[in-house]
Amino acid sequence: MATNQIFQHGTLGLLVPGLYDGTITAGDLLKHGDTGIGTLDGLNGEVIILEGHAYQAREDGQIREIAPTETLPFASVHFEAPQQTAEVHQLKMTDFQTQVADEYQLANVFAAVRVDGMFKQVKTRVAPHQTKPYKTLVDATATQPEFEGTNVKGTIIGYFAPHLFQGATVGGFHLHFLSADHQLGGHLLGFEIDQAKLSLQKFADFQVHLPIENGDYLAEKFDNDTIDSAINKAER
Ligand SMILES: [Zn+2]
Repeated sequence: MATNQIFQHGTLGLLVPGLYDGTITAGDLLKHGDTGIGTLDGLNGEVIILEGHAYQAREDGQIREIAPTETLPFASVHFEAPQQTAEVHQLKMTDFQTQVADEYQLANVFAAVRVDGMFKQVKTRVAPHQTKPYKTLVDATATQPEFEGTNVKGTIIGYFAPHLFQGATVGGFHLHFLSADHQLGGHLLGFEIDQAKLSLQKFADFQVHLPIENGDYLAEKFDNDTIDSAINKAER
């Protein structure tokens, strides 16, 4: 069990032109990590993986556990073994990100970020399920349901990646949320921590596993500039 690497299936870039077909099963993905984030086949919601269980936050606001046979076009996982923990209080998302990136010198490393505790406020969004012919990521996420909670107990899980890797993944922070009662989840748009524990795990290794059996992936002509602007629009 390698705790020194992130395993990522697919790239964020492949979602940009609309390659949403699931190309790895949840069962296979969980062999490479017990914690992480992603999306399901058809860009169907937001995936949160905690303690070896994968959950889907759906566009109708429901949270359900994902079966091992379900497939994902994109996901990042790791085996949890944080090197550093700290108490965090009274912090909003942008301040949290600035402080954590500075204090732990994240700029040029891959790191998993987990925050467990009480949140004064949480705002998420959930990508809506797409059917073929698939729209681009920017069009597919132009309107998407948002969910809010106040005084919520829950967990943030996600990653920091060096900006150099924008396109392969999201450069900077990419964070998802799951409430302890499984009533609120999704891709984080904003939050305010009341009192929580931060756990940080840095990785020297980033393993990218590509869907080389997928014809659409093989045929796609990716454009770096389009990918960069689409990620900035759709994933932050
Ligand atoms: Zn996300």
